[in-house]
Amino acid sequence: MKEYWEKIKKLLRPNLVVSDIYNIDFAKLKNQGIRALILDIDDTLIPRGVNEISPRVFEWVVERKEEGFKLCLASNSRHPMRVKYIGKTLELPSMSLGFKPLPFAFLKSLKLLDAEANETAMIGDQLFMDILGANLVGIYSIFVKHLSKETFFPRVLMRQVEGWVLD
Ligand SMILES: [Mg+2]
Repeated sequence: MKEYWEKIKKLLRPNLVVSDIYNIDFAKLKNQGIRALILDIDDTLIPRGVNEISPRVFEWVVERKEEGFKLCLASNSRHPMRVKYIGKTLELPSMSLGFKPLPFAFLKSLKLLDAEANETAMIGDQLFMDILGANLVGIYSIFVKHLSKETFFPRVLMRQVEGWVLD
């Protein structure tokens, strides 16, 4: 039983844990051979339910592009127009209804980015979707602490379980 739990934990463990997207060392990632980034939207780039892109987020995306990274947005959101709007604003390819952690969103992202899994990083705030999915496909996984406080019970519970996995 212990071995089984350890295996699950390993699949859920991010390669890197950071407080937010502004605390990622992209020069170091580049040195590791990462040249493409898959970005989650909700609670990673912007707080859940927010539609406005702040100048800070915009600048962050522009800087990554200038550094030579290829980027795309992969969201599980059921609001395709919202995702499209954010993608258009940031001038990034995007997909909604990604069904992360299933592999489709990740494989489609790699295609959009024209990149291999081992040269790509996923940045997201959910262990069971962003991190697990990336780990299963062999994409470098970066976990950011979520931007908003959870009030919806299933997500509160999930955050609790995430805490157990991460400690
Ligand atoms: Mg998210």
